[in-house]
This record gives sequence, C-alpha cells and structure tokens, in this order.
Amino acid sequence: MSKPVVAIVGRPNVGKSTLFNVLAGEMISIVKDTPGVTRDRIYADVTWLDKEFTMIDTGGIEPESKDIILAQMREQAQIAIDTADVIIFITDVRQGLVDADSKVADMLRRSGKPVVLAVNKVDSFEKFMPDVYEFYNLGIGDPVPVSAASRLGIGDMLDAVIAHFPEHEAEEKEDERPRVAIVGKPNVGKSSIINKLTGKQRVIVSDIAGTTRDAIDTNVKYNGKDYVFIDTAGLRRKSKIKEELERYSIIRTVTAVERADVVLVVIDATEGVTEQDAKIAGIAHERGKGIIIVVNKWDAIEKNDKTMKEYENNVRRVLSFMPYAEIMYVSAETGQRLNKLYDMIDMVIENQTLRVATGVLNEIMTEAVAMQQPPSDKGKRLKLYYITQVAVKPPSFVIFVNNKELMHFSYTRYLENKIREAFGFRGTALKFFIRERK
Ligand code: GDP
Ligand code: GDP
Repeated sequence: MSKPVVAIVGRPNVGKSTLFNVLAGEMISIVKDTPGVTRDRIYADVTWLDKEFTMIDTGGIEPESKDIILAQMREQAQIAIDTADVIIFITDVRQGLVDADSKVADMLRRSGKPVVLAVNKVDSFEKFMPDVYEFYNLGIGDPVPVSAASRLGIGDMLDAVIAHFPEHEAEEKEDERPRVAIVGKPNVGKSSIINKLTGKQRVIVSDIAGTTRDAIDTNVKYNGKDYVFIDTAGLRRKSKIKEELERYSIIRTVTAVERADVVLVVIDATEGVTEQDAKIAGIAHERGKGIIIVVNKWDAIEKNDKTMKEYENNVRRVLSFMPYAEIMYVSAETGQRLNKLYDMIDMVIENQTLRVATGVLNEIMTEAVAMQQPPSDKGKRLKLYYITQVAVKPPSFVIFVNNKELMHFSYTRYLENKIREAFGFRGTALKFFIRERK
C-alpha cells in the first residue's frame, strides 16, 4: 500500500513550516523509539478523511541573501516535481504576488504535476479575500485562501490535494512486480549493487508519463520473474550546503521507501553500523515495509569464524527497534551472495502478505495467556478477549481487551513473539491495535 507523496514549496517566510507543523502536529501518529522520527519534521504522515499521505517540506534553511532565494526555490520545486504526486505551492497574501512566485509557478505548470495553490496568512476572509484573486495570475488554478496560523481553510486545501490522488486500487492491480528500494548512506555501495544485479539488462522506466520520479526505477528479470528496483543513488544533487544535502537525501529515502514493498538497507561493512544507518532504517520501519539489512563490502574486511556473529550483534544493537529484519552479508564487488537477495525478497514479500486465520490466532493467544499472566494494576487485571488480523503489508492485528490502559508494551511484545514463533513473519514489522470491549 504505497501512499501518495505531497510536497510543500514556497518562498521563505510564507508560512511553510507553520502549515507543515499544523498538519503534522495534529494529524500524524508519531512512532516512538524510532530514530529520526520526532526530531526532524522534514516529512510526516497525514490522514485526511479516509486518505493517507506522506507530506514533505522541501524548504530548507533560510538563504542568506536575496539573490539566492530564487535559485533555492527552483531547487525545491525540482525536488517536489521529482518526488511528489501533488505539490502544495504556498504564497503569502500580505507580501502579495512577487516575481519569484511567477517563475516557480511557470516551472510547476510545465512539469504537468498537479498543483494546489495555497494563499496563506488570510487570517480574515473579509479583509484579505480581494487580494487573493490576484493569485489567479499565476496561471496554476484557483487560489485556496488559508491561514496556517489560525488554522483556517486547511480542510478546503486538503480536499483539493486529495482530489488529485490516483485511484489506488486500479494502480496497484496493474503492476504486481515486487518493488524493492535500495537505501543507505552515500558510498555504502547502492549503485554498485544495482549495477551488479542488473548487469546489462538495466532498463530505465522512469520516463513513462506520470511515473517520473527522482529515484530511477530499473526492471530486472531473475528466474523468469520481474522485479523493480528503486534506486536512490542514481541521481545526485549538487549543493554546497550540508543541511540541504541531508534534507534532500532524507526526502529521497522517504519517497523511495514509500513506493516499495521491500527495502534493502545497505550498510558498509568496512565502517560498521552507525546512527545514520539507524535513522535511514527507521524510515522503512515506521512505514511497515519489508526490510533486509544488506551488509555490503563483505570482501573488504578481515574475517575469522566469529566475524559474522560479531557483526550481527552490532547490527542488532544499533537497530534494536527492528529485530525482525533479515541480515545478509554481500559484496557488490565480487557478487558474493547477491543472487540470494532475490530469494530473500520473495520470502519477505510472502511474509508481508501472509494472513493468519482468526481461529489459529486465538489459540495462540489463549495459550500465551495461560503461560504468562497478563499485567494488572490496582487490583484490576488485563483480560484479552479476542485477536484478529485486519490487514497485510504490514500484517496488522486488533486485540480486544477489557481495559486499554492495562495493556503494557511489554505484553504486546510478548504476544508478538508468540505469533512470530508460530509463523515467523521474518523481515516484516507487525502492527498491533488495542481496542476496548466491555
Ligand atoms: P517558512 O519560512 O515558509 O517556513 O515560514 P514560517 O512558517 O516560518 O512563517 C514565517 C512567518 O509567518 C512566521 O512569523 C509565522 O508566524 C508567520 N505566519 C505563518 N502563517 C501565518 C498565518 O496564517 N497568518 C499570519 N498572520 N502569519 C503567519
Ligand atoms: P553509493 O553511493 O551507495 O551508490 O555507493 P557506490 O556504489 O558508488 O560505491 C561507493 C564505493 O564503494 C565505490 O568506490 C565502490 O567501488 C565501492 N564498493 C561498492 N561495493 C563494494 C564492495 O562490495 N566491496 C568493495 N571492496 N568495495 C565496494
């Protein structure tokens, strides 16, 4: 289930971060304990009505001089064009229409991407509406008056955004090839892996209308089966500013991961696993994607019979939030074990789409409860009535209980382990929702 990506573009000070925080702060569910999720607000998951999307804020740090504003806006607009399904272009009614707005609007119009034009700081409709009409001159459709600060017009703006979303069901049925994103820090060997996997059959399909993406999609046939690799390394952006590069690489990772079924998180064996790796892996984890940790450059390190175990311990420690992830040790240089990746990808996808019958789940839960008493608090004990699987990709379960407050994280984890003991579910996160039933 890949969610649409919505990007916010606009000049400095028009209210991009304010709008982003309004949407993110109130509507996202932040997954705790995942590195990078709460710290940076470059992206967020938003739900509006029954639609979910991933929102990205392309606006980076404040430019130091006026003359680089336009250059930076073009850069942001290009990122949005490359990665988003819908673009929210924000302008400022108080500053009025300025030349940079027109230039960026031209760029957006030429891209053919759906654009929603938001005119911000319309804190009073009576007072400011006459000034809103001026923005029709941009030639990118009806301006939607909003006030991010006073939270006015946000609903209308979101309605306009989701009206542009593709029909989900139809799109997914068309293409059943497994989609595999390759992510990781620079220089870990992402390009080398994709080059080795694809050999000479590399076909770039990203120019097909409507699918133009920043990431380059490559179709690979293996054992008569097609796979699509989403490569975040293919294109590199030049920017002298470190923060901008980081922002860009996070946006790239989020949008590639969003479109994938399985994510290969590539780690450099010569460097070991780092916090930055954890941040990247966290993006795939929090989106419930299938995950394979690929320790690359395995040829380049000195090994003895303990090396692999030591590596695994390190990976498990730094990436402790995803104990379910598979680990593989490969070399893009020599090709060692690369072909095994396909079997692993197949297995992870199978697990992501596995459905367990309700009867069997309840047997497991009953047995688990008998073996370890549920927690209690102030004389009240947790009762578990019923468990059922409600979704796949990732497999998601609802547990009905007498009192939600009594359900500790550790007991959910215990039940998760019991379910994993029975069915494996290797390579995929499981989600649990706790509901009360009196
Ligand atoms: P960004 O540079 O585009 O991210 O803009 P910010 O979100 O940082 O906002 C710039 C300034 O505009 C801040 O001082 C905000 O408080 C103010 N601002 C944002 N939205 C509104 C709004 O709806 N009405 C008014 N009056 N001010 C706003
Ligand atoms: P990317 O930035 O993640 O796409 O990384 P690249 O694929 O460009 O690789 C970065 C560097 O690591 C290049 O110099 C590669 O030759 C080298 N490299 C990639 N994979 C391997 C490997 O398996 N073994 C060794 N020894 N070097 C590798």
